[in-house]
Formats: sequence, C-alpha cells, structure tokens
Amino acid sequence: MRCSCTVCGAYMANSEGIELGCVCPECLHRCKACLGTDSVKDVEQIKALHEEKVEDNEA
Ligand SMILES: [Zn+2]
Ligand SMILES: [Zn+2]
Repeated sequence: MRCSCTVCGAYMANSEGIELGCVCPECLHRCKACLGTDSVKDVEQIKALHEEKVEDNEA
C-alpha cells in the first residue's frame, strides 16, 4: 500500500525498518494512517511542539 504525503502530496515509500509505516522522500514526513495507528504522534512532531513551548517561555 502506498500513501500520498499529507504535507507535500508526494508518493510515500514504505518504511519497514526501525519504524513501520511510510516515509515521504520529499519532506521525510512519516505516515502511520495505513497501519491504523494514526493517533500516535511522531517523535518529530512532539519535539517540534516542545521546542515551540520553550521559545514561548524564553520570550
Ligand atoms: Zn512530503
Ligand atoms: Zn502510509
């Protein structure tokens, strides 16, 4: 099964290594919708949210 990237619309390649799901070759966005675990947030997304909070605290 192949998915379209929800970020840039490119075809995503299956990633069957460390983490199951798809990875976009263009923007490296990861997809787990095809696995039925879309509610799980990516580590990268969690990092991004955390960095935003840190910036808010410093400002
Ligand atoms: Zn993409
Ligand atoms: Zn997918």
